[in-house]
Amino acid sequence: MLTAEQAQAAKEFRDFADREIAPHADAYHEAQRTPPETIRLLADEGLLGLPVPEQYGGGGCDAVTLGLLAGELGRACSSVRSLLTVHTMVAHAVNRWGGRALKDTWLPRLASGERIGALAVSEPGAGSDAAGVTTTLTKDGDDWLLDGHKKWITYGESADVFVVVGRTDAGPTALLVERDTPGVRTELIEDLIGIRASMTANVYFDNCRIPGANLLARPGLGVSHVVGAALDLGRYTVGWGCVGILDACLDASVDYANSRVQFGSLIKEHQLVRRMISNMYTDAHAARLLCLEAGRLRDRHDPGALAATSTAKYFAATAATRAAADAVQIHGANGCSSDYSVQRYLGDSRVMEVIEGSSQLHQVGLAEYAFQERALRSVR
Ligand SMILES: Cc1cc2nc3c(=O)[nH]c(=O)nc-3n(C[C@H](O)[C@H](O)[C@H](O)COP(=O)(O)OP(=O)(O)OC[C@H]3O[C@@H](n4cnc5c(N)ncnc54)[C@H](O)[C@@H]3O)c2cc1C
Repeated sequence: MLTAEQAQAAKEFRDFADREIAPHADAYHEAQRTPPETIRLLADEGLLGLPVPEQYGGGGCDAVTLGLLAGELGRACSSVRSLLTVHTMVAHAVNRWGGRALKDTWLPRLASGERIGALAVSEPGAGSDAAGVTTTLTKDGDDWLLDGHKKWITYGESADVFVVVGRTDAGPTALLVERDTPGVRTELIEDLIGIRASMTANVYFDNCRIPGANLLARPGLGVSHVVGAALDLGRYTVGWGCVGILDACLDASVDYANSRVQFGSLIKEHQLVRRMISNMYTDAHAARLLCLEAGRLRDRHDPGALAATSTAKYFAATAATRAAADAVQIHGANGCSSDYSVQRYLGDSRVMEVIEGSSQLHQVGLAEYAFQERALRSVR
């Protein structure tokens, strides 16, 4: 299924996640912080720049390899996986839509992890309908003046640079904004249901002056092109992150069912417990295969990659929610406590059904793909 290089990379990612991330994930969740040393370690290992082209100092990896990394990080800690997701979305947006000078300046910094990126699209009044942003961008000479409030920005509290979407006369417009720009302020959002260590924040922009060279694509293409491309990649790594959650639920549930005794036998002997485990097992395999297919299509630049990525994210996120709910159930009261990681998986999986397109938005889009595919078949 995997090439020798991909299989070797998967083993290295797994070893790294088991050694450096998984043992600390519950503590990060509890503290609602990812320690800067962990972010530095990911950067120093070259993991944050893995998909950035080699000419900019990145790893130039294929989509399947990136997915394998997201899966292993997701198994260990969904917050850390979400760092990979948003950072690679920013690098992808700059690579795809930035001018030469912007790419030459920012891609090496993002590839090395010297600077961390976050994606600032959502606002209190604009979520699924990203084109409804009200943040304003006003032209002033060669610069843009940026005013507005972005909400729910993953790693917004610690990121160095943001891809921001604001509104111009031409429509939603994207540009790159450095954190130390005068007028930028962030405020941590605590006590989320999941990815609690992801330092999600409100980000405020008060009359920020942004150089015109920081524009990503033409004015008006901020959502359709820039966010569209970034979200497509984000969905792909979130889908794989959910494969990781499914694996983690299965590991925890098998271990627990193998050790907990009730009514004189291990609970794994009870058929209804076995049913939950068989559902989890099937879902984990199915989600992995869908994500692998999406990765292969992405690597071949196949036009079907978009629909395959949406299918994989939708299935993996909903399957992760089912698995996490069952994992908590198998753990009984222990599953309801913070002594066991399954409680974390449940909250994390819920977030996966909201971000990078909610499950409902994917359902709406997937039905459209189904109608289009069948309409095309009938004219052939
Ligand atoms: C932990 C976390 C991290 C996040 N990180 C980021 C980030 O880094 N950057 C960023 O920009 N945003 C981020 N977000 C915001 C996220 O992208 C939005 O929450 C998401 O787009 C959904 O928007 P909303 O929450 O406003 O829900 P709404 O859009 O208000 O939707 C509410 C409900 O209505 C449903 N709904 C809406 N429209 C339709 C429709 N057309 N058909 C059917 N159902 C529909 C939705 O599925 C949902 O169930 C994050 C959110 C969370 C919770």
